[in-house]
Amino acid sequence: MMALEYDENIVVIDAGLMFPEEEMLGVDLVLPDVTYLAERKEKVLGFLLTHGHEDHVGALPYILPKVNAPIYGSRLTLGFIKNKLREHKLVEQADLREVKAGDVVELGPFKTEFIHVAHSIPDTTALAIETPVGMVVHSGDFKMDQTPVDMRPTDMARLSHFGDHGVMLLMSDSTNAERDGFTPSERTIGEAFQELFGQCPGRIIISTFASNIYRIQQALNTAARYKRKVAVIGRSMVNNLTIAQELGYIQMPGDIMIKVQDINKEPDEKLVILSSGSQGEPLSALTRIAAQEHPQVKLKSGDTVILSATPIPGNEELVSRTINNCYKHGARVFYSARNRVHASGHASREELKLMLNL
Ligand SMILES: [Zn+2]
Repeated sequence: MMALEYDENIVVIDAGLMFPEEEMLGVDLVLPDVTYLAERKEKVLGFLLTHGHEDHVGALPYILPKVNAPIYGSRLTLGFIKNKLREHKLVEQADLREVKAGDVVELGPFKTEFIHVAHSIPDTTALAIETPVGMVVHSGDFKMDQTPVDMRPTDMARLSHFGDHGVMLLMSDSTNAERDGFTPSERTIGEAFQELFGQCPGRIIISTFASNIYRIQQALNTAARYKRKVAVIGRSMVNNLTIAQELGYIQMPGDIMIKVQDINKEPDEKLVILSSGSQGEPLSALTRIAAQEHPQVKLKSGDTVILSATPIPGNEELVSRTINNCYKHGARVFYSARNRVHASGHASREELKLMLNL
């Protein structure tokens, strides 16, 4: 979360939350301190959102009661937020305003253009904010994926346009800032799925971030190619898939979905289970499956578990425990430390340099 202030005007960029670190016992969520904004709430002209990840929008339900201003974001971003606000009974109070890449929003002295960037969730944007003292470009989370699943690479032409006209302040960073080279394309994971599915004798259980719509789409496509049916388990996975499908961000490759209660009617070699819990969260579907505590899915030999995610720092132990449990119950496990089953959504060093050069 970040705020730009000029005279009597404030715009807020993103409103994310953090998950507690291991030593924060009893803490569920870490929220930004908005005292400064709450004390000046009549000056806040709007929230400008870059994308729908929790660490960028997750704090909104907690902030809106204190600072209520129009919320600008792309269609999928607002789709996810609306669902969250509904859970908090705040959707009526929220003033959600949909924007798309290329749109310009004028709020007091701030004129903001939304620029498309590739990331691990569709509809992600960077922001070019014209201010009275100069141009501010906020890259948000991005990668320079040349072959993204939706074939919409980062809009380098537009970024370079602003570069040519002079940028006073570039705000750009990446969790992969220490990683050399370029982050692999999201599309490589579809290829990896294609290869892996061919080697799986029985059921395939895939877990990824529930917001990674591209990954889910690639899993669905591969399942369809192998004539496997797909059941989805885990609340976040079911919710996000429903929203993304309603808004047109997921295309179902034919009639492949089945209800989780029907999984035993399908032969093992014709089944994929798409599960939430890629971070080993204690009550999540995959964790319960791995511990043989899930009411509908019990692991058995012949099963393959694909953990298509990396542990967020701090979650390593939980994820390792899940992997160990899967092995213990006879499943084969493919995970990012050993297999090419995950590609990050964040820029590596060469991509950060490219952003600087643009
Ligand atoms: Zn993100």
